[in-house]
Amino acid sequence: MKILVLNCGSSSLKYQLLNMENEQLLVKGLCERIGIDGVLKHERNEIKYEASIAMPDHNAAVKIVLEALLDKNHGAISSIDEIHAVGHRVVHGGEFFSDSVLIDDKVEAAIEACCDVAPLHNPPNLIGIRACKTVMPGKPQVAVFDTAFHQTMPKKAYLYAIPYELYEQHKIRKYGFHGTSHKYVSMQAAKLLGKPYASLKIITCHLGNGASICAVNKGASADTSMGFTPLEGLAMGTRSGSVDPAVVAALIDRGICPSVQAAIDLLNKKSGMLGLSGVSSDFRDIESAKKDGNARAETALDVFYYKVAKYIGEYAAAMNGVDAVVFTAGLGENSIATREAICGYLSYLGVEVDSEKNNCRGKEIDFSTECAKVRTLVIPTNEELVIARDTKSALQK
Ligand code: ADP
Repeated sequence: MKILVLNCGSSSLKYQLLNMENEQLLVKGLCERIGIDGVLKHERNEIKYEASIAMPDHNAAVKIVLEALLDKNHGAISSIDEIHAVGHRVVHGGEFFSDSVLIDDKVEAAIEACCDVAPLHNPPNLIGIRACKTVMPGKPQVAVFDTAFHQTMPKKAYLYAIPYELYEQHKIRKYGFHGTSHKYVSMQAAKLLGKPYASLKIITCHLGNGASICAVNKGASADTSMGFTPLEGLAMGTRSGSVDPAVVAALIDRGICPSVQAAIDLLNKKSGMLGLSGVSSDFRDIESAKKDGNARAETALDVFYYKVAKYIGEYAAAMNGVDAVVFTAGLGENSIATREAICGYLSYLGVEVDSEKNNCRGKEIDFSTECAKVRTLVIPTNEELVIARDTKSALQK
């Protein structure tokens, strides 16, 4: 069974084709600059192919992806019929979806209804779904939501302390994101530890450009740091994370931002590591600026580590204990200094790092000392594999 996984952004489309008999990745790639000019980057094993191809819209991009999959040199199939289904990453499923679903008109309408709360993400996700319907009519399509894994959060975790009617009538609450990643790495952590998933208290730290933390209690999300939108929580590449909402009013009152939207844009795009360091939103640049003696870069990193450590403490309290802390995504998988600095705050929990084991990048490892009470793990995330697995199981339901 071959499954095509699509992650559709406003001007980009990431794809992977997986053989689900053995969960093997066949090809992967990316369409960029859709609606501008169009670039295809495609990869099969070590073979890389890149081309400028006109992509006036997402329909064109989906057609180009299919042509790349069928290509004699770098493709992986000889007919579209070999693709059993398409799995789509959909960012926001609101309260409608606690699991992945086969897409029909009702599901499409519900995804559309969530555009309200995810105006940047859900519309391009929908465009991708509709482009597939046009280009591959009748092909089963499954929606896999970033929010679904967090639908197990109890009310006390997802409610904001604002008038209850706002939750009832407007669904203003915490939703959480990066669900497929938190689900994958927590399951994988249980495997690595050789213990039943349902017996463990795990804190997963997805630290990339976007960053979030999740308390996974006995296999279910109990709390997470992102909220109503992906702006809440940790400081991130360009996002502020949680700030006092009165900051928005101050930005407007003092004439710094002309509107609420401009203030939110400042918090989304000009803040976080970029805003604090003044160097870059990319952690590699900030780490190297710190090495060169840049004090603001050092402060930015200190703020980031401190916030991550505080959330870990919060979630250890929420679950009344923690068995393992998992690091994943670009920074979590690759930055030795980040893991060391964060774990430095956690000795009170029973975290003890083996520096030699921590000296690794991008591979699954338990980097705690033999006698550490709390295990610290690196688990490379694989959101596409979760989407493909969920697509397969939604088809079989
Ligand atoms: P996203 O998917 O949210 O765009 P990623 O998970 O790819 O983000 O993470 C990107 C971040 O990871 C960047 O800030 C990058 O600097 C950081 N990163 C990647 N590799 C390293 C590394 N070797 N050392 C430090 N940071 C790294």
